[in-house]
Amino acid sequence: MKEPFDIGGVIVKKFTFISPIRLDVLGDRDVLTVTDWRELAACRNSDPDTFFPVGTTGPAIDMIDKATAICGSCSVQEECLLYALETNQEAGVWGGLPEDDRRRFRKRWLAERRRQRQAVS
Ligand code: SF4
Repeated sequence: MKEPFDIGGVIVKKFTFISPIRLDVLGDRDVLTVTDWRELAACRNSDPDTFFPVGTTGPAIDMIDKATAICGSCSVQEECLLYALETNQEAGVWGGLPEDDRRRFRKRWLAERRRQRQAVS
């Protein structure tokens, strides 16, 4: 999570996730309650085609580069990537990773999760 960032004109200095769908953000003067990490997404006003290009070659490469650049400035990149991994989102750019990279990353993520669960039990 990157801080500080701007949401609706309020510079957010700190925030805490109360639950996966609710977080409180503390700005210079205001406290905002955000009910979903998507409300903080840097891509929320972007063209969806940028994040869901057709294919992974040719013009799609420029779209993917543009999308991952936006992700690079996103304050909820970790939450977005975790959501995509947990829900097995197969298409598009999520959390800064295009689908091929995310598919490879998810295999390692699942293996690490299995290893941690086995270590606990
Ligand atoms: S990490 Fe990228 S895809 Fe995810 S919410 Fe942020 S800008 Fe959108």
